[in-house]
Amino acid sequence: MAACVKQGSALHPPEEAPPPLDSSAKGLSPFGNTMLASTPYSFAGHLVIHGTMPNNDQPNDHDATQAFLESLPELKTGETFQFACHPGVPCFNACCSDLSLMLTPYDVLRLRGRLKLAGREFMERYAVTAPAPDTGFPMARLRMREDLPGAPCPFVRREGCSVYADRPGACRTYPLGRATRPVGEGKADAGDVTEQFFIVQESHCRGFEAGPAWSAPEWLGDQDLKEYNRQNDRLMLLLARLKGAETRLTPKQGSMAFLALYTVDAFGSFLSDTGMLEKLELTDAKRADILSDEARRLEFAVDWLELALFGACPNLKRKAR
Ligand code: SF4
Repeated sequence: MAACVKQGSALHPPEEAPPPLDSSAKGLSPFGNTMLASTPYSFAGHLVIHGTMPNNDQPNDHDATQAFLESLPELKTGETFQFACHPGVPCFNACCSDLSLMLTPYDVLRLRGRLKLAGREFMERYAVTAPAPDTGFPMARLRMREDLPGAPCPFVRREGCSVYADRPGACRTYPLGRATRPVGEGKADAGDVTEQFFIVQESHCRGFEAGPAWSAPEWLGDQDLKEYNRQNDRLMLLLARLKGAETRLTPKQGSMAFLALYTVDAFGSFLSDTGMLEKLELTDAKRADILSDEARRLEFAVDWLELALFGACPNLKRKAR
């Protein structure tokens, strides 16, 4: 696969309700661009790229990830970058086509909520899924409109992103790249991550020519990334554990992970039907939260998968028999 890096997003909200996209849509430049999104799946070893990285057939490939990182200028603490994206920027929308944009479970949850779709329906219409080559963990990417010239994102419109308030984390993070590493097991702050930032400046992008100066924390705050990163970082810790154990999911385990993470609504029915929550040490309030709130259920899903796959999870215990 091409290793060129093109990524970005309509970072500015559309000015009006978007019309349906058609093949005459202007402002959609066909690049062979790739975006592997804000993704715990792209981690190599204990490294996770949030933002962009080169497309390749082996998203867990450590060398490709490391080489990509080393090619980017780091944004160190206290440093800033200048950036603005809005309909007045000449390249507006150009980065929202022909992407390899990985969807995290939290991305799916937000987009589903926006589109009012059941998990299964969303995944069938908008995602392409495949097991990770090394761990067998189910990975999802946003399905581009291959039936239209330039293969645009299904959500891009002339006016910008039609799902702006719930756009994926990768779209929010650009033009930053965010790399995270788990803090080592057994240490006092185990379960946390450390992060590093990089600037992903693509040749076509004119957003760097004007705009305010941003530090990394300012940009993450402006793009409302706190909950995205919190949810994705938690999943990354599970995936790092899986990779460290050199464990490969069986097809059945992969199906269960898909159900729990990408079809959180159906996972709720599964929990109710099986009485699974009764077998776990949970307070009544926590059990009610898990059943009533899909974001809390997704957090629980990661703990539950860790418990099921490894027999132990720091956040969840089975009831003693
Ligand atoms: S979701 Fe929105 S911001 Fe992201 S690629 Fe699609 S149109 Fe662009």
